Amino acid sequence: MEIIHVSAECYPVAKAGGLGDVVGALPKYQNKLGHVAKVVMPMYRTPFLYNNEWELVHESGSYLGSTWFKYAVIREKTNKLGFDLYLVDIDGLLDREKVYGYEDDTERFVSFQIAVVHWLNSWEHQPDVVHVHDYHAGLIPFMMKYCHGLQKLRNTKTVLTIHNAQYQGWMGWEKSHYIPSFDNWKSGMLDWENTINPLASAVKCADLVTTVSPSYMEELRESANGLEMLFEFEKGKCVGILNGIDNEVWNPATDPLILANYSIKTVQEGKAKNKAEICKAFSLDPSLPLFIFIGRLVGEKAAEILPYVVGESVAMHQQQINFVVLGSGETELEYQLTELQKMIPGNFGCYIGYNEKLAHQLYAGADFLLMPSRVEPCGLNQMYALRYGTVPMVRNTGGLRDTVIDIGEPGFKGFGLVFNHATAFEVNESIHRAMGWYAEKQDILEASRKKMMAIDHSWERSAQEYLELYKS
Ligand code: ADP
Repeated sequence: MEIIHVSAECYPVAKAGGLGDVVGALPKYQNKLGHVAKVVMPMYRTPFLYNNEWELVHESGSYLGSTWFKYAVIREKTNKLGFDLYLVDIDGLLDREKVYGYEDDTERFVSFQIAVVHWLNSWEHQPDVVHVHDYHAGLIPFMMKYCHGLQKLRNTKTVLTIHNAQYQGWMGWEKSHYIPSFDNWKSGMLDWENTINPLASAVKCADLVTTVSPSYMEELRESANGLEMLFEFEKGKCVGILNGIDNEVWNPATDPLILANYSIKTVQEGKAKNKAEICKAFSLDPSLPLFIFIGRLVGEKAAEILPYVVGESVAMHQQQINFVVLGSGETELEYQLTELQKMIPGNFGCYIGYNEKLAHQLYAGADFLLMPSRVEPCGLNQMYALRYGTVPMVRNTGGLRDTVIDIGEPGFKGFGLVFNHATAFEVNESIHRAMGWYAEKQDILEASRKKMMAIDHSWERSAQEYLELYKS
């Protein structure tokens, strides 16, 4: 089967969050299962572009409304990622340093999608499946079905995977002329509440829809940033498939980004060495338990409670506790965390920004990972934490619910700490609980670390589930 993944992110080319991790891994595992999976994404100005060799495979031009733009498609020559990687170059629109956050993101991603469908339409054969990810590629199923110039793509099957339904790519109807000439009778397939909504359009037009965990699929029918009715109506073609993690990239035994590699057998010593390194970097005492948070500093992740949580916990536990936060996001929160570091430097460190290496080091060196998320479609951090023997402390939601069992569950099945509400009060209670385990039940905690490291969250299983879905 030939599968074309279309995405705004793909690790290690460009990553802003979990979407990049998934698109960097799933195609590799689909190829390992004997299929041909390829990735098409925008050509940003990232280090990966300059450090690799490329060949030109296609050049053409198209219209965005009345503006003509030229585009080129280049392919990475060596297949080093385990799949064919194609980048779409559009001068002045896509060739920027960041993935998102520009005023003309609508124009950037609509042009990208137009270039992709025109390029695919120029192929002599057709792929079996075009698999689009999130709203940045969400207009593609509509274009393939209803745009006049793309007849060759009409019968190609499309799958949408929703990594995050909060962002939908809304654009006013005054921009409808951006979309290549289409059957006007079908304009309702673009619309949600009098706005062009690329995510809603993809839910309506794709042959199948997946989300990145079964629980998130259920939650979307109740809370989907305005699309609840749509998910209820389309539930017949929606399936939740839990993400995997790339066990080759995220392996404490071989990870080149951490100081000391370790396995299940050596987790205690290995962790201690990595923890010492992290604590040195942030001037913290390595004999104290270390709690970390890694992620976007936004409301979805309940990041705004972090300053209270850290401040209260440090006071409650008489400075016998350490925290490190790695993240970026809301400016006010970034400021608060930076100030907090100045106020309690011996117990709290923060790194504001994106740092892949530090993320690996933190998973390896920490005792506990905090994830109080309000919304967590799948969540990869907790799965990386499990793989590195770091106890996840999570809110009972979305993919967190599907992957973490509380350590107090009967039958000694559990290995993490689970709480119900994203409030500073509940998170502090959970930290208090963790401190109890750390002080008095080290043996049980150590056994849990070994248990969680043995859990298989690899992509093999999920990649197989996607293939069965395509076949259906
Ligand atoms: P999201 O909702 O952001 O996609 P996920 O849990 O699915 O959340 O994925 C987050 C990914 O991004 C993980 O690989 C995590 O380690 C990484 N990440 C998030 N913020 C940072 C950061 N500031 N520096 C390094 N890695 C980060």
